[in-house]
Amino acid sequence: MDSQSQSQSHGHIVMLPFMAHGHLIPFLALAHRIRRQTPFVVTLANTPLNLQYLRSTMSPSDADSGIRLYELPFCSTDHGLPPNTENTENLPPNQIVALFHSGASLAAPVERLISDITTEEGRPPLCVISDVFFGWSVDVARRLGTKSIAFTTGGAYGTLACISLWLHLPHRSTDAEEFSVPGFPERYRFHRSQLHRFIREADTTDEWSKFFQVQIKLSLTSDGWLCNSVEEIEPLGFDLLKKYLKVPVWAIGPLLPSHMLQKSSPNSPNSRSKSLQKHTGKALGASLEKCQDFLNSHSPISVLYISFGSQNTISASQMMQLAIGLESSGKPFLWVIRPPLGFDIKGEFRPEWLPPGFEDRVTGSKQGLLVRNWAPQLDILSHSSTGAFVSHCGWNSIMESLSQGVPIVGWPMAAEQAYNAKMIVEEMGVCVELTRGVESRIEAKEVKRVIEMVLEEEGKGGEMKKRANAVMGQMREAVKEGSDDEKGSSVKAMDEFVRTVLGDSTNGTFPFL
Ligand code: UDP
Repeated sequence: MDSQSQSQSHGHIVMLPFMAHGHLIPFLALAHRIRRQTPFVVTLANTPLNLQYLRSTMSPSDADSGIRLYELPFCSTDHGLPPNTENTENLPPNQIVALFHSGASLAAPVERLISDITTEEGRPPLCVISDVFFGWSVDVARRLGTKSIAFTTGGAYGTLACISLWLHLPHRSTDAEEFSVPGFPERYRFHRSQLHRFIREADTTDEWSKFFQVQIKLSLTSDGWLCNSVEEIEPLGFDLLKKYLKVPVWAIGPLLPSHMLQKSSPNSPNSRSKSLQKHTGKALGASLEKCQDFLNSHSPISVLYISFGSQNTISASQMMQLAIGLESSGKPFLWVIRPPLGFDIKGEFRPEWLPPGFEDRVTGSKQGLLVRNWAPQLDILSHSSTGAFVSHCGWNSIMESLSQGVPIVGWPMAAEQAYNAKMIVEEMGVCVELTRGVESRIEAKEVKRVIEMVLEEEGKGGEMKKRANAVMGQMREAVKEGSDDEKGSSVKAMDEFVRTVLGDSTNGTFPFL
């Protein structure tokens, strides 16, 4: 069936990701999942440069996937942003808020898109799936006679913490370091140090509060929420999020390449030379072969992988202490390095940011491999030698790590990362937190102690590994396809989402489910 006749017989879904790579990629993955599990046509709309980025991440076979990319006109200078800036990447922190506010200017072109689909197909799209940061789209969808579904690219616990903290700013009504957060039981204490500077200083009149409070309130009126997580791995988070939102919440994650979720992939000997992650659109700082050779030269579950996501780095003094701690631990490590805070993160890496002779020594002895700026993370995490991950606790990194049963050393930086870290420490038991943010002081001694502990076979490290393996099993179960009895919870949740958006239009018969 060609896509034209599919749309006529089954329906059309419009997707609106926020303009950041960490949102675009999960939206594209969700679009693929919808295309795989349903006969709906999917149109993913965004600004020209973000679509260009998405195209660069798509393989030739993706081009036949039936996902349509639709350009929404956008002029960054109209919003006080530098020319040709359509994404959070490379924006200095003080300009990011302008990009957040600029999203609302997409309302008119989105309205045109939905109207055009309605005229062409004789009925409105089945729904608009939009980013929680695009709350304005709820009104647009409703006015044009379609449903509005919010998609959170984070986990349930982290999403709830993030929306509740922004809406209520509970830390502003106390001087205490610890406080409770509406939506969480009173005994759950959050700490001021878990808040990024923007929210710590927010008071409802600042630009960040004005953005989040308005857009989140609008998103709360959506007809339902999709969440890139798995019901069984964060039962508390889903229980609390559902009570808070009071609309259906569908846990449809993890949105990972399917080979990451197959029985043979976790920590299996990695003779694979084809990358799991060919199409990230980023240049690798070391080839896949080089990373695999390094990992192949070490024993199973022995190597520490260190990376702070797609756009973070640490301070110069933290980098120095991390390096000294790593070397003195004697443990093998693969570290994605970037210039420290205050320097051009995309610039040349200078040896003086590390202890004298560090790189020569650790590469000479094969203790370490330093990869500049970007590494093939999925391949590294799914390699049998990788034993633990020092991570900023971005949700994608957490899902990728746990899908391979790799425990985490948390070092949250921004956004909802500290709440993710709190959940995976306290609820899942798969993480130990090393420090928080870029302002903290860390000591090499502490780095060494934590690394040794997390990589030990027995004791706390062994326990974390066992729990990470159990979470890995739950994630794999959740995406199992088959007959109704065999389907995993995330596949069933996607079916329920489909039933909801189809509503009464099919007399209750869904031949493709
Ligand atoms: N990533 C990668 N190589 C790197 C650093 C990051 O492939 O060297 C990918 C990683 O696999 C993940 C994403 O970038 O899919 C980072 O997303 P996450 O949600 O963890 O953090 P964010 O970058 O949004 O802060």
